[in-house]
Amino acid sequence: MSAPISSLPVGDRAASTAIERHAIASSTFEAKLAETLAILQEAAQQAPATQASSLGAEDMVITHLINAHALPISIFVLETGALHGETLALLARLQAQQAAHPHAPLTIYRPQADAVIRFVTREGADAMVRSIELRKTCCGIRKMEPLGRALAGQKAWLTGLRREQSGARAEVPLIDTSEQAAKGLIKFNPLANWTWGDVWHYIALNQVAYNPLHDQFFPSIGCAPCTRAIAVGEDFRAGRWWWEDEAAKECGLHVKTKEGAPA
Ligand code: SF4
Repeated sequence: MSAPISSLPVGDRAASTAIERHAIASSTFEAKLAETLAILQEAAQQAPATQASSLGAEDMVITHLINAHALPISIFVLETGALHGETLALLARLQAQQAAHPHAPLTIYRPQADAVIRFVTREGADAMVRSIELRKTCCGIRKMEPLGRALAGQKAWLTGLRREQSGARAEVPLIDTSEQAAKGLIKFNPLANWTWGDVWHYIALNQVAYNPLHDQFFPSIGCAPCTRAIAVGEDFRAGRWWWEDEAAKECGLHVKTKEGAPA
């Protein structure tokens, strides 16, 4: 049987790890942690509630908190068919871990295979770099359609969005009710106020397993063809769809129309 993720050594982590580089809590960390717990408990009361996990550092923190407090919040991962090997290895660990947490079962959603095959056959494996339209079509097939299935029947979903991540996310609220009318969903962003240092402080403190790509200067990790390491001084999300304008850099999961529905 696999060891629980939280008990795995912090190891397998390169000499200069993300923990060593970033784990510096802000002065208000304890207050933010209490706020996050309160938000998670409120989300759990909106049953059924589910966490959207990209397996990034923020999402691993949220899953750890769900487990630590035995909250009845399920977890889902969109396995797009284009993830890094490191991400898939972490997903396998998470699957083994959540088997011991029946209050928070993990479900993996994959795209419709025939839709992926048709798109790649027609447009090629590198379609996403040729135009924003093709990139969004790929995200639609690999992410948005499975997301719709993952959220069907849910009353609340939780994300790891933080205000610090990008200009487009600077106004992210802790509780977002703007999708409630259109989709019957409340979106909870329990780490909205956390800094990157807070995230890594929590990971270090609780020995939370994380994607080793974070040690290799990947702060934000998505599909392999659309994610690269960032250089010193670059923005947090500079490694995502780096060939596009900053304003276009969302896959649709967290983009809304004026009416509040996911775009
Ligand atoms: S991130 Fe890239 S590979 Fe992944 S679904 Fe979007 S365009 Fe396709």
